[in-house]
Amino acid sequence: MRKVVGCTVLVLLVAALPASATPVCPDEPRTACGGRIFPEADTSTAFVQHDIGEYEDGINALERDHPRFVKVRTFSEFLGKETLSAGDREIFLVEITDFQAPEKGKDAVAISLSVHGPERAGLEGGVRYMEDLARWAADEPDHMLANGTEPDSTELPVSEVLKKVHLYLANINPDGWAAGDIQNGGAFMRGNANGTDLNRQFPTMGWTKVSGRPLPMSEPEPIAWNKVIRRIQPKVAADLHGELTSAQNAFADMMYPAGQWNPVEQAQQERAARHMQSNVERYFESDGVVLGDVAGAGAEMKPAEYATGYDVVGYDDSGFMGDWFTEQIGALDMDVEHFLSHMVPNSTWSAPLEKAHIASVRGEIESLMVEAIAMDSVRPRLRLGKVGYLFDARVVTKRDGYGGPKPPEGYSPQGYRATRMAYFRDLSRRTTVPLRKVWSNEVRRGGLDGLDTFVIADHPFPRNSKGGKPDSAKMVRGLKSFVRAGGNLVLTDRATKLLKRLDVVKGSAISKKIYGAGHINIEDFDDAYMKKVHTTASQTYYEVPLGYQLDQDSSPHWVVTREAWEEAGGTTIAYIETETDVGLGRIEVGKGTIGIFGALLPQPTEKFDHLYGLADYAVTVAGGQIFNNMMAHRR
Ligand SMILES: [Zn+2]
Repeated sequence: MRKVVGCTVLVLLVAALPASATPVCPDEPRTACGGRIFPEADTSTAFVQHDIGEYEDGINALERDHPRFVKVRTFSEFLGKETLSAGDREIFLVEITDFQAPEKGKDAVAISLSVHGPERAGLEGGVRYMEDLARWAADEPDHMLANGTEPDSTELPVSEVLKKVHLYLANINPDGWAAGDIQNGGAFMRGNANGTDLNRQFPTMGWTKVSGRPLPMSEPEPIAWNKVIRRIQPKVAADLHGELTSAQNAFADMMYPAGQWNPVEQAQQERAARHMQSNVERYFESDGVVLGDVAGAGAEMKPAEYATGYDVVGYDDSGFMGDWFTEQIGALDMDVEHFLSHMVPNSTWSAPLEKAHIASVRGEIESLMVEAIAMDSVRPRLRLGKVGYLFDARVVTKRDGYGGPKPPEGYSPQGYRATRMAYFRDLSRRTTVPLRKVWSNEVRRGGLDGLDTFVIADHPFPRNSKGGKPDSAKMVRGLKSFVRAGGNLVLTDRATKLLKRLDVVKGSAISKKIYGAGHINIEDFDDAYMKKVHTTASQTYYEVPLGYQLDQDSSPHWVVTREAWEEAGGTTIAYIETETDVGLGRIEVGKGTIGIFGALLPQPTEKFDHLYGLADYAVTVAGGQIFNNMMAHRR
């Protein structure tokens, strides 16, 4: 699978089983809660209880104390019609904004708290941060909120943020939560009362999992949340989870959502993740979180880290709420896994551990609120020089039949006209020089004159501009003369096969390998191809939106044997799975360069289920950064 990362040794903190509830202090005096409604971790003795009304009383008290800044409604009230969980519980929506400021023009931010019952971090941090915001807004309007501490971070007074941002928070799984109430036995449930995992219920592109689980949007909670969210239209969103181990050795493991991200979206995501990481670090410091108290001695934990979901938890899936937030709702989304906020040890309250979770969540929500205001300034201008790309007119489309297995009864699959060429169209909008589209019949001696870089993504010999088969020998001669004269040729995916025709290595040295997720294993982060690439990077394309199946590995990766590559004079920058398979590299030929990237822009596939259409491309933030560096490369 992916790169090997250190496993965290953890020491569980033994806490006595709580004899009483949390406490929560809706009414004055609040001395038992240190003057707050929801006390700090050190004063708490248990998780906020659901069925005895601690949450409901607490958030209602917050609204009563700060009606200008807090509004609490059930989904039933918000939607004007009884809307309950599978276990017949009301679902609450808490809104924080300055209700005296005009609603028009405000940015909505939606936060999903603890959709998996045992993963309490989101809810515990969420309720406390709601209270922080309301109190600051009322008592310290000049209190500064920040999205992070990076040089490009933004800081604004709370009074201004709440005039511009409308924050919505909800826990859509009260059944899973209530199961963990002390009076109910204290065993939180992942799913709702029907036992359904609600975080597999959301329609996402390339839905590849039809069999063996309930279909998307078949449970009452996601159906209701979809209605609420479509009315709210969030610009920014997050879904907060918990994990038992951290591949990145971080307390807050932030995850980029899967989907089709153009260069602007990639840049926005990268900035949001980097900001959020620094904001969690800031909150760990200001809240006095001592990592040694929560992680055993020797465990080198950091407050926060970011990567793709696959690089954080080791798997991808269809139906994640976070992917849906971005793909279907159009919000900037960042999901978070909180270390040790899971089955174990989350049946008992460990103050130092929950203090860390609460600090994380405070930092995350605040970062996203400010990001909602700041993100519009992200307008990348990419200096890639004069770049051309080989055009492939073929599209993968429903017109030729649905493809793949028959859709379940009652479902009419979404249409699509998918082509990886859309990546170049979208990239061209953000480059200082527009990209040149080149047909296969234009690739001949002199045909690429004037270009610094020529890219062939995946298929090396697509149809020509008249729909005919190209003259491959003529194309190869054109490519050779381009490189020898100093051109920068970039080959991705299947186009790696061209190394044989270009006389770089023998055909037997090139092969296609199949793995679970599009990824590489980077060896040299100091290489020019790795400029600005974060050191957690491994995944280069999201396979699910392209329709690649999850139950069995199906994602294509093209590799060159290391021996042949390095013997030919090639430099290895990343391998794929086995160190002998080169997946990213560069070789100098004549006065020019050939760069290879074996897993970036494969054509989408119709072979498996894909109820919600297929993406044109699904390049990750790191994949896009590496690709840009390859195109900008000059000898
Ligand atoms: Zn979860």
